[in-house]
Amino acid sequence: MKSAHFLALALFAAMAVGPAFAQQDPTLITGKQGYVTLKTDPKFGDTVLKPGIYLVQHEMSGGRHVLTFWQMGDPNLAQEYSDLAFVSEPVSVPCRLESLPARVKHTDVTTSHGDKIARVVKVEIKGENVVHGL
Ligand SMILES: [Zn+2]
Repeated sequence: MKSAHFLALALFAAMAVGPAFAQQDPTLITGKQGYVTLKTDPKFGDTVLKPGIYLVQHEMSGGRHVLTFWQMGDPNLAQEYSDLAFVSEPVSVPCRLESLPARVKHTDVTTSHGDKIARVVKVEIKGENVVHGL
């Protein structure tokens, strides 16, 4: 009977691990890359982005959520994911995640037009199930 008691304790300990994993919310899908074309020059954080094609990606950096825009150069190189395809430095801005009920089908950037200047306020990346708010 003593061994049965230990087995029960072991099972309880194994089950107790479960909720710790659940708190990490494994349903959030992030870290995908997407391409967007900016036809105007909106502000992204403190930086004004030039019109063009951008590679966008969400990353964790120093425990914070960060969204990064890389401007692409030659579109032929861009299709090959080559580092040579990037022009200027990438621009990173902290973001916050909001979960969506389904996966995003098209990478998209939403801007708001405040005081004359357009500002990036929301980014969705194909394949993820979150919105990146700014
Ligand atoms: Zn993000």
